[in-house]
Amino acid sequence: MKKLCAISLLLAFLLCGCAQNAPVEREIFAMDTLMTLRVWGDDDDVAAAVSEINRLDALLSVTDENSEIYALNRDGTAEFSLDTFELLNKAVAVSRRTDGAFDPTVYPLVEIWGFTKEEQRVPSQGEIDAALSRVGYEQLERELDVTCVSMDGKIDLGGIAKGYAAQKVVELLQSRGIETAFLSLGGNVQTLGSKPDGAPWLVGIADPSAPSQAIACLRFHDSLALVTSGGYQRYFEENGVRYHHILDPKTGYPADSGLASVTVLAHDGALADGLSTALFVMGMEKATALWRESDDFEAVFITKDGAIFATDGAASLLTDCECTVIER
Ligand code: AMP
Ligand code: MG
Repeated sequence: MKKLCAISLLLAFLLCGCAQNAPVEREIFAMDTLMTLRVWGDDDDVAAAVSEINRLDALLSVTDENSEIYALNRDGTAEFSLDTFELLNKAVAVSRRTDGAFDPTVYPLVEIWGFTKEEQRVPSQGEIDAALSRVGYEQLERELDVTCVSMDGKIDLGGIAKGYAAQKVVELLQSRGIETAFLSLGGNVQTLGSKPDGAPWLVGIADPSAPSQAIACLRFHDSLALVTSGGYQRYFEENGVRYHHILDPKTGYPADSGLASVTVLAHDGALADGLSTALFVMGMEKATALWRESDDFEAVFITKDGAIFATDGAASLLTDCECTVIER
């Protein structure tokens, strides 16, 4: 079995600021991915941002034996801190909106495909059926009246935790008086404010067939979360077939909706992250229908054959590419 792993990323390009406007920059590895923080503040602000990410990682990690999520998955019951509780509620809200295309109880499936381990493999249909019987966000939804949860299933917040962390870091920096920041947490970009030199933020969308290159570029000022989910970000191959890490909770197999990637733009980082995973599973037709009845996100879709489609709000920010605009 040949294992291939591509680092998940939105390519981030920043125009250089002049010297007095230069940000403090830090690279860290957390939540299983490389993160870059650029903060127009001082070292203490960046240190506070890093500890916030590490604090959330320690609560939410599915593999850290000391995390609250690990405790629930091991014991079937756990007492959650307010952050974990808030994120579980946000996750369930995305599940409801997307008819379960995003499902935080997907972990039994993630486990049998081996996506949290080194060894990935195609499970048998019997294993998939057994895992599917334990997947369903409704069981979690029923439990979420109080911060103590008991359930038979297992939780994986990997599809939403980085977006939540970016959101929390932005809120923390704001509370410290910071007006400008650029965060890239793996595939999750979140900006705070406008660049002091007046230049726009430029964020590239990775080309799914050549992920180190950008297929398109988004240009904007102000605060925004931009999150990409793509089949190219983590996958393995077996007998010449590629299997990626975004699973369809209805079939138990990697989602096969005709999309190579989805980028979601929203003001809330957790929402952008949860929705990017969900829209990838749903495919363009259902995703577009959801967008038409919503007013809190925009999206860019790249199909498996390389065509780019963008909702009208996202299309107005796109440069350096030809795209088909999806109208309301
Ligand atoms: P993302 O890169 O944000 O799309 O998240 C992908 C990760 O979320 C996977 O590596 C799994 O840990 C988890 N995941 C996979 N499929 C789903 C799904 N349908 N709903 C929620 N989480 C998922
Ligand atoms: Mg996601």
